[in-house]
This record gives sequence, structure tokens and C-alpha cells, in this order.
Amino acid sequence: MYAKRIIVIGAGIGGLAAALGLQRRGFKVAVDERAREIREVGAGLIVTANARRALHDLGVDEDLERLSCCVPIMYTCNYQTGEIIREHPNAGIREKYGFATLQVHRADLHTLLMNAVAANDPEALHPGHEFVGLDETETGVTVRFANGATDSGDALIGADGNASAIRALLFPGVATTFNGQVAFRALLPANAVPDRVNEIGQGMYAGPQRYILHYPLRGGRIMNIIGCGQATAWEEEGWAIPATNDEFLNAYCDFAPHLLEMIGNIPEGGLFKWGLRDREPLATWTTDRVGMLGDAAHPMTPFLGQGACLAIEDGMLLARAFAASESVKEALVRYEGARKERGNGVQLMSLEEGRALQDPRIPRKTAVDRGLLKYDPVTVPV
Ligand SMILES: Cc1cc2nc3c(=O)[nH]c(=O)nc-3n(C[C@H](O)[C@H](O)[C@H](O)COP(=O)(O)OP(=O)(O)OC[C@H]3O[C@@H](n4cnc5c(N)ncnc54)[C@H](O)[C@@H]3O)c2cc1C
Repeated sequence: MYAKRIIVIGAGIGGLAAALGLQRRGFKVAVDERAREIREVGAGLIVTANARRALHDLGVDEDLERLSCCVPIMYTCNYQTGEIIREHPNAGIREKYGFATLQVHRADLHTLLMNAVAANDPEALHPGHEFVGLDETETGVTVRFANGATDSGDALIGADGNASAIRALLFPGVATTFNGQVAFRALLPANAVPDRVNEIGQGMYAGPQRYILHYPLRGGRIMNIIGCGQATAWEEEGWAIPATNDEFLNAYCDFAPHLLEMIGNIPEGGLFKWGLRDREPLATWTTDRVGMLGDAAHPMTPFLGQGACLAIEDGMLLARAFAASESVKEALVRYEGARKERGNGVQLMSLEEGRALQDPRIPRKTAVDRGLLKYDPVTVPV
């Protein structure tokens, strides 16, 4: 085998999907994660057909469906009254694309991927390894970690997310701006959720410059809530900045009373916020021995709900590119050739959606409207 050891930095959904895909094609993989314990935050994720095709190929889709929700209808509602404006039946999605849309607890998807990687190789996962530097030569890559350890491999995959240290090192100078938008997230037990919200299941309420989205997780026992849009104050980047219910309520005070009641019921310590960053697409994702994937390659704002789905697609294409090649360089050229247009394209569409939310004259489009679910990462040429 031309690549005896591939190092993946970041055990997020993208890094683990890539690791699993590579292992299933016979490659030895080491996954280095900065967190001391490898786990996901408690939040929801919408997983659509394009990503489910890859998850099916990776052998985790069936278990994911069993653990998740698959709402019969996704609703768009009036933000002030809650009245239903548009229905999106999930059966139609399944019929058209082969897989319905799932409402997933991030930790469930993450655990399935992590367990599958560890089952293939109990030595593969290395928590407490924060990437700080690399040396790339003609024959390989050596990586340095904050804990003083080093590791060497034939190739390095940067899957270290939105604020990627690998991207900053290899491709410095990519513009990053706070776009004035802040997101809130919370999970609420179903018994603390107003009946109207539980009855709707998945509801999207777009108001002036802000929206609220809720959907059920884990068979309906939990409701995932997201509020996203224009804010008055600057916020840090990151997933876990604590917020108070009053902050959320004040920013969305013109939304329907039952939505505000739901926000008021969020348990103390259960609400988080962060500021969104717009980043320009990268001109290139790879060097001779280093490739980027997921948010590290195409940092995504949340407006199309496709960031994790794209990271999974990347993982599948990366694994297929390595399997189809005879050198690391060839694999990374194939991977970038197959993926850059899709990844950068969706990154730009997501930025466009963020702008449309700010300006009512620009029509908003969902991932379905934009045809993103058609993409098949298992069969697309690589
Ligand atoms: C509000 C919101 C809602 C969203 N909803 C959806 C949705 O419904 N559907 C969807 O598909 N996507 C959604 N997304 C997007 C999705 O969450 C991300 O795009 C996805 O998590 C990207 O995966 P990743 O593996 O590339 O990066 P990450 O999930 O960020 O993983 C990166 C990993 O790298 C680790 N790491 C970072 N730096 C280092 C380092 N120096 N050394 C070692 N390890 C490091 C991190 O600890 C982390 O484990 C949403 C995002 C937001 C903000």
C-alpha cells in the first residue's frame, strides 16, 4: 500500500467519516483530537439524503435512523402567529431522493462513527492531541502537538473545523469577518415544550432578519431549538458560550407567544450562543501531502443546514480518492478535483442565504430548493 499511515486532525463528524471510509478501504488511520474526551456537543443536526448515501456506504445509516427522528412533514410557519404557511412532506423527499430527511442528535451520529472507527482499530483515536505545527517533506508529514508529542505519516488530513489551525498555517490570509449574526441553541425535554410546538415537530419561523427553527430528536423525547440572525452585540466564535433566556427572549420578542413560552422554559445552563463568521472560499484545499475537509476546507454558515452533510460527503470522496490512486499526491489531486466546486459552491450559497435573511427583497431558498440532495458521494466520479 502506497500510504501506510494517514493522520487525521480533528475527531468531528468530518474527520471520523473520513477515517472510517479510509479504514474500510484498507488504510491505517490515526485520528488526533484536541479535546481530552472525544464527544459531540448536545445539539441537533438535520441529515439529508446526500449525506445519508455516504453514511449507508459506511454502514451506520440504519442505526442512525433507529436513534433519530424522521418527521412526516417539515413546516414553514408565520413567525408572529405560528400559522402554517408551507408543508414539506418527508415521504416526497424519500420518494425523490431515496432517503428521507433525519433529525439527529449530533452525539448519536458522532458516537456511531467513533465506535465504528475504534472497532476497526482500537489504537486509532488519540484524544488530548492538539495540533500546533507540521513539517511536510517529499516523503511524508510530521505533526507536532501541544502536549509535546509528535507523529509522522504519509499524508495529513485537516479536519479541525471552522477555525482550523491547519488552514491558518497552510493558507494564511483568508479573510474572516463577524457578519453581525448570532446563533442560539438549546435542547428542551418534550414535556417542557408547548403543545403547539410538539404538534408541529419541525417548524421554521422566519421573521425580519432572524429565524427560529425547532425539530424533535431521539424519537421525540427532546426538542432542538435554534435562533439565528441579526444581533446588536458582537459575540465570540464557538459553540459553548453560555447565554440567558432573557437574552434570547429580548432578541426574538416579536415572535409568536408559544415560541417565547418555549424559550422561557429552557433549563438554566442549557442555552448557548455564538457569533457567526463569514469566510472566503479557499483557492486550493491541498498541498502534495496535506488535504483539508469539512469546515476546515469550506467553513460554512448554518443557513442551509448542510455543513455536517458536506463534511460527510468530503470524507467519502477522500476515502474513494485514496482507494483509486497510486500515490498520496494523486489521491489529493483527485479529491480536490472531485470536491472543490461542490464544497466552495455550497459555502457561497450559504453565505448568500445569510444575506437573504438580512434583506427581504432576496428570495430565500432551502437545500432542497437548491437541488443539494441530488448529489451522490458514493458514485460521483473521483
Ligand atoms: C446553528 C448550527 C446549526 C447547524 N445545523 C446543521 C444541520 O442541521 N445539518 C448540517 O449538515 N450541518 C449543520 N451545521 C453545520 C455543522 O455543524 C458543521 O458544518 C460540521 O460540524 C462540520 O464538521 P467538521 O468535522 O468539519 O468540523 P467540527 O465538527 O467543527 O469538528 C472539528 C474537530 O476538530 C477538533 N479540533 C479543532 N482544532 C483542533 C486542533 N488544533 N487539534 C486537534 N483537534 C482540533 C475539534 O475539537 C473538533 O472535534 C450547523 C451549524 C450551526 C452553527
